Amino acid sequence: MEASANPFQSALKQFNRAADILDLDDGLRKILSTPERCLTVAVPIKMDDGRIEVFIGHRVQHNTARGPAKGGIRYHPSVTLDEVKALASWMTWKCAVVGIPYGGAKGGIACDPKRMSRGELERLTRRYTAEISIIIGPEKDIPAPDVYTDAQTMAWIMDTYSMNRGYAVPGVVTGKPLAIGGSLGRHEATAQGCVFVIREAVKALNLPLDRARVVVQGYGNAGSIAARLLHEQGATIIAVSDSRGGILNSKGLDPMKVLAHKQETGSVVEYPGTEAVSNQELLELPCDILVLAALENQITAANAPRIRAKLIAEAANGPTTPEADDILHERGIFVLPDILANAGGVTVSYFEWVQNLQELWWDLEDVNERLEETMVRAFNNVYALHEEKNVDMRTAAYVLAVDRVAEALRLRGLFP
Ligand code: NAD
Repeated sequence: MEASANPFQSALKQFNRAADILDLDDGLRKILSTPERCLTVAVPIKMDDGRIEVFIGHRVQHNTARGPAKGGIRYHPSVTLDEVKALASWMTWKCAVVGIPYGGAKGGIACDPKRMSRGELERLTRRYTAEISIIIGPEKDIPAPDVYTDAQTMAWIMDTYSMNRGYAVPGVVTGKPLAIGGSLGRHEATAQGCVFVIREAVKALNLPLDRARVVVQGYGNAGSIAARLLHEQGATIIAVSDSRGGILNSKGLDPMKVLAHKQETGSVVEYPGTEAVSNQELLELPCDILVLAALENQITAANAPRIRAKLIAEAANGPTTPEADDILHERGIFVLPDILANAGGVTVSYFEWVQNLQELWWDLEDVNERLEETMVRAFNNVYALHEEKNVDMRTAAYVLAVDRVAEALRLRGLFP
């Protein structure tokens, strides 16, 4: 069934489309279709009730031709090695699209963090860090937050790694709290970067942002902040959702009040003055901009014919399957692909890492100016290729990224 499409197969299809356009040779195709390193670890921890539970975790480094591996860590019941491989490869392409000197990695643990206590999550994080510490480090692989991990998780990783070294190593993770070497602007970076490229896209599409009606799927770090920033630009947020369901008010929602309600009750559902909508209904609402900020495989061949947005911004990784992409493209729906639209997170992670290595701090304006410059340049590069090659924005972004990684591989040559 497509709704559970294997994300790594989707990632390979997207890569191969670009490889065909670039006429990439077979050897490079083989190298770039195979992650460099996949580490699967058992993570045994003592639960609060005294039982021992064993979780399965992964860390995948997809490609490091352009620099150290970089990518988030996800805690979710549906984490599999193939999902982590896909997410790692998307990181390779994403870093190349925005031109930051990193390769791609990703990590994850199959667990249900909502059913775990803070103590259990801390033990899980520390044991997982110890298990993957043989391949991570500030000069080789630098984790960051992803779904259901946050600045606190990063603080535990940084502490565990540092305890084993005997000195503080802030550069081993990004997305840390400010007090231990985090960067100003990192918390908002994914959403901020996404909103910068939405702003550029609506200019190109002649769609005034201050009159846009926006739907946001997923109300976590990326989705809730994107909703707030778009609201601040004058857009009307008509519907949002989280894992428990969606809410709709066609007159508009106040994103900060919705967030306060979610923080209080655990979900956006039952926010006063709204109508309940299912996640499926939410995706098919008529709107100008649909921001996808939850998980993979949300737009598939099954619902793509019914999507009524003019512009889709993929704050999430892999929310659209390749089959759905073709349908959206035919229907003239403009998609800002994940490897461009959510690259703000890794861009400010890169700034955080640079600050850590230099032991020097940038102010918020500095961070946001550099982020804006990076995102606008990446958008313009991708948009130019989209027009020049008459391909959708995702294919254009892949062409740009694959070409850059392939060039690095050619220059480095094959060892031995
Ligand atoms: P998060 O844990 O902060 O939020 C995830 C949100 O999605 C939660 O509100 C959750 O309730 C909701 N959700 C889960 N399943 C859902 C479903 N079926 N329907 C609707 N909502 C659902 O995670 P995040 O960091 O905001 O990540 C969201 C997406 O953005 C992921 O795809 C992630 O890979 C991507 N992303 C995040 C970052 C980052 O810096 N945090 C960077 C790049 C990409």
